[in-house]
Amino acid sequence: MSVSPIEGVAIIGAGPVGFLTALGLARNSIPVTLLEAGPAIAESPRAAVYFPTTVKVLDQLGVLDDALTIGLKNIYFCFRVLETGEIVMVDTTTSMPPEERYPYNLHFGQHILAGIVMDHLTRIADAQVWFNHTVVDLEQNGSGVTLSVDTPDGRKEIRSDWVVGADGANSSVRRLLGLPFDGHTWPDRFVATNVSYPFDQYGFAPANMVADPVNWAVVARLGRENLWRVTYGEDASLPEGEVRRRIPDHYRAIMPSQDEMYEIVAASPYRVHERCVPTFRDGRVLLAGDAAHVCNPCGGMGLTSGVIDAKALAQVLSAVILGKAGERVLGFYSEERRRVFHEVTSPVATEFKRRLSEKDPEKRRADARIFREIAENPKAAPQSALLSAQIEGRPMPV
Ligand SMILES: Cc1cc2nc3c(=O)[nH]c(=O)nc-3n(C[C@H](O)[C@H](O)[C@H](O)COP(=O)(O)OP(=O)(O)OC[C@H]3O[C@@H](n4cnc5c(N)ncnc54)[C@H](O)[C@@H]3O)c2cc1C
Repeated sequence: MSVSPIEGVAIIGAGPVGFLTALGLARNSIPVTLLEAGPAIAESPRAAVYFPTTVKVLDQLGVLDDALTIGLKNIYFCFRVLETGEIVMVDTTTSMPPEERYPYNLHFGQHILAGIVMDHLTRIADAQVWFNHTVVDLEQNGSGVTLSVDTPDGRKEIRSDWVVGADGANSSVRRLLGLPFDGHTWPDRFVATNVSYPFDQYGFAPANMVADPVNWAVVARLGRENLWRVTYGEDASLPEGEVRRRIPDHYRAIMPSQDEMYEIVAASPYRVHERCVPTFRDGRVLLAGDAAHVCNPCGGMGLTSGVIDAKALAQVLSAVILGKAGERVLGFYSEERRRVFHEVTSPVATEFKRRLSEKDPEKRRADARIFREIAENPKAAPQSALLSAQIEGRPMPV
């Protein structure tokens, strides 16, 4: 089989992390080719809320104006205790420092984000996006990486100088490198649903945590239309094929009025994990986003940290390719992003999950008390800038 060389970097996976890495590299005049197994950007219900750290990266990459024309800006978060009916509304801006440039979260589906970035990427001459290209094998030496790729025209071999594996939680690139994905899988199954229902008329904020040991849920508005993401958990031993049949029982517990009609637009069951690779770099192959680390989605930490990976990786890899830095900066990227996962991302996501489904009534009351104190005395709130800085980690040395 003949090998087709491609210039620059091959990026595997047209999710938000693959697209943002590609755009970051392309903005530095690095040729990029993005290979995606699917026929188009995947639309399954996943990330929908972007924190100021993500908004900042979107601005740096020149896509924020487009995101603002589509997304819903939100500053409110609501903690609701199902059992007692207690509702605590928090204005998130009160815990932000006055100099915060992006004092809001943005709400819209991650496939829309990927689409916006693709639009910008494909306007750049040396950037290509190839759908229906599935990476099935990988070999590398000191000068480059050869990928075997299944395409509609049969199997092809493609050689590039560098490869970025941004191919999601079930990453083929990670598997082909033989890297373990250490960590654990949570015992429960999560169900992400998109539903039209007038939550806003019943005092729900655009972002809500409904705390309950059984019927916990995350309820978030998906954008400007009145479509909402309701994510809840269920026992993973229940038959997966009957998830849809059980949705009305869960909705009955979560929805404030049973008289309103609702329409389920999408529903998707999935297992959640806390896992990370031992290294984000193997020779000329680098990993980013869910391919490198996964956490439960309760606090929206997954894509938030994947977006920072994308920004950091584009910086260090551009510097190496342009001869402005030695390869040790790739090692820094790997160690720092891995440290942030273990010390910040996964512990924060785990704490969000605990707060949602805490079984101990005393701890549940203490959680509600914390949110009440934040709502009543914003000065007592931990500065969200601290968490943002922790998620961003140390700056790349380039
Ligand atoms: C229900 C749910 C809600 C979530 N909510 C949030 C949230 O609010 N905020 C947040 O920050 N995070 C959230 N997350 C996490 C977030 O969705 C992920 O972190 C994010 O999708 C990771 O993006 P990615 O680009 O790394 O991977 P993906 O989005 O999974 O993209 C990987 C791409 O690679 C492609 N691919 C796979 N294998 C190959 C191959 N061999 N060859 C070529 N292409 C391949 C896939 O088809 C896919 O398109 C949520 C997750 C779930 C499940």
